[in-house]
Amino acid sequence: MINSSTSSASSKARGKTSTKEAYEQIGKKLHEKKLLMATLKDEITVLKNQNPIDKDAIKKKGKEIDDLNTEISQITKEWNRANPDKLHIDPEEFNELLTRRFFVVPSFEIYGGVAGLYDYGPPACAIKANLLDLWRKHFVIEENMLEVDCSSLTVEPVFIASGHVQRFADWMVKDVLTNECFRADKLVGEFIDTQLEKNPNLSQETAEEYHLVKKKIDDYDGKGLDELIKKYGIKSPTTGNELSEAYPFNLMFSTPIGPTGKVKGYLRPETAQGIFVNFKRLLEYNGKQMPFASAQIGQAFRNEISPRSGLLRVREFTLAEIEHFLNPERDVHPKLEQVKHIRVPFFSRENQTQGLSPIEMTIEEALEKKWLTSFTHAYYIARVKMFMDQCGVLPGAIRFRQHLANEMAHYARDCWDCELLTSYGWIEVVGIANRSCYDLERHSEHSKNELVAYETFDKPIIEEYIAVEPVKQKIGKILKKDQEPVIEYLTSLPDEKKLELQRELDQTGKITIRVPELDRDVELTSDLISFPKRENKIQGTHYNPAVIEPSFGIGRIIYCLLEHSYWVRPKQEHTDEDKLQRCVLSLPPVIAPYKVVVLPKLQNSEYEPVVAKLQKLLSRNGISYRVDTANQNIGKRYARADDIGIPFAVTVDDGSVSDDTVTIRERDSCEQVIVPMNEVVSVLTNLIDSNKTWEEIKQQYPEQKQTASDKVGKKQVK
Ligand code: AMP
Repeated sequence: MINSSTSSASSKARGKTSTKEAYEQIGKKLHEKKLLMATLKDEITVLKNQNPIDKDAIKKKGKEIDDLNTEISQITKEWNRANPDKLHIDPEEFNELLTRRFFVVPSFEIYGGVAGLYDYGPPACAIKANLLDLWRKHFVIEENMLEVDCSSLTVEPVFIASGHVQRFADWMVKDVLTNECFRADKLVGEFIDTQLEKNPNLSQETAEEYHLVKKKIDDYDGKGLDELIKKYGIKSPTTGNELSEAYPFNLMFSTPIGPTGKVKGYLRPETAQGIFVNFKRLLEYNGKQMPFASAQIGQAFRNEISPRSGLLRVREFTLAEIEHFLNPERDVHPKLEQVKHIRVPFFSRENQTQGLSPIEMTIEEALEKKWLTSFTHAYYIARVKMFMDQCGVLPGAIRFRQHLANEMAHYARDCWDCELLTSYGWIEVVGIANRSCYDLERHSEHSKNELVAYETFDKPIIEEYIAVEPVKQKIGKILKKDQEPVIEYLTSLPDEKKLELQRELDQTGKITIRVPELDRDVELTSDLISFPKRENKIQGTHYNPAVIEPSFGIGRIIYCLLEHSYWVRPKQEHTDEDKLQRCVLSLPPVIAPYKVVVLPKLQNSEYEPVVAKLQKLLSRNGISYRVDTANQNIGKRYARADDIGIPFAVTVDDGSVSDDTVTIRERDSCEQVIVPMNEVVSVLTNLIDSNKTWEEIKQQYPEQKQTASDKVGKKQVK
């Protein structure tokens, strides 16, 4: 559910996702028309070869072919629009809104900007703060996580240990003449998209191949990508020149630290390493208790090769990461029971490679079917799904895709990406990786610090062993300095050998052993040494913790939520004469940048104390708001609040002065109710916290009929 207050009108207007069935049906129709076209072309050839030529019949057939061509190009357009792998919004209108209302703009715009760097304006900052607040409540507080804030600048040994210096790379190709760089997989993907969208003569077979290649694109290595580029004849999209072979390009920004330039460092490409290197302290802070999770929100930097997907692939972005540490032998989660029923659309590795669709099932079913093999991993997948639902993602526009074998990061054992549908296609917004024991093992090895945890057994384990017990005073006198190597050698022998020696001592009273280090035989009698059975009580053991890591790209989530919540009011609902496009962002109140806009209906000094009172009430109750007193008609001001997603408007009018009431308007339906001033906070709080729906509020309070001036939004000055 997106938002309890969302009206059915807006839901209809927001029907932006298509079904696979509809897409396939149109595809079938297109295929039939293409077959018919082939028949018509054969028929016209026969007519042209007839003697005598029937000109009228040829003309008629030619007309049929022209009509069919027009029909085919229309169906092709319809087919592209129904593509379920894209969200259908008008990119120009949408981007215009993002810039006009200062959500996001290119950084250093007045100097021409640079690809992949963006600045957030006030509404996006407010949305980001709300999203992070929700994230902290849903994960950090709910799971009692230990939050840290580590340095972005990181010294090189950390990334040598983690493997980033060697392997954090993408496949890149270069224009052989201009040296312009492109990410090889993206280039192939874009080529396929263009062919599917713009080439009406594509055969069904080729289209199917393209779809399959696109689905598996992350599975190709450099050689595989080279083959695709060659097969499809892909050239540089800017110049049409030939491309080089694909080669790996490391995505980390490197920088010397300090004035000597001797300390090599990098801007971190993920926040995770800061948590790993602090593991010992975190474990100590947690009273040495395992399992536990640590969380970090911070900036990450990646020198993306050719960031062309707008805000989705940028060079600096905010990550919110969780590292859940567990004993790999005890992969359980105490709260798994509470989330087993959560339904998730799973897109498994097999489904992808076989060109099938995602399958929705509960977490419990996914575990039973062994699609998920770690209980803790399963728990986090459920929690991520719950979080995304709260954020207001469109139903049907979310899926969890398993990484293909080649796609998996060097450290991962299994990985599922939470992907959201956008106008750019499906985009990863959260990576949920099972990193096994890789990270702490590597840092232990490289830093020479044991990053391990200790498990105390419920009952001590009794371990039997065969001891080596010399009679020290006697043996020392006989063996002197050779005593140590002799005892060392005997201790190193396996238990069976020690038992054999004891049997020999019992039978003959002596043993003769050859000690490699001394390179001579040594004779020992039974009064000097014995090999008795002894017991060890083992209280616990050290182990390398495994890690489950959900990693959230905050910027990507924000962008997707904006696309998902964006719609344009259908024409008949327009409340303004001036035919302005009425964009609405139906963000849920928890994410919306401000919860309320306060609007004096007219410029009237009598309204000012009421506005001031409202401001005080809202601030005191922690409800974020904007006041819009611009000398513009109310319709225009409603529209300005709608297009940054403010869910409720409180309007001050004559009734506020005479009867101490205000009007509350709901963004999506434009419906209004009249509420006494002293109840305004409780009504708003109930709506914002989703304790009450708009329908319930409408039944409780009288409806305010929209006046003509509300509808046409005429400028009124009193
Ligand atoms: P990864 O470590 O590659 O799995 O990335 C973790 C998350 O960071 C992804 O799920 C994305 O949401 C986000 N992310 C990765 N690269 C970028 C980028 N270049 N721009 C924006 N977000 C990114």
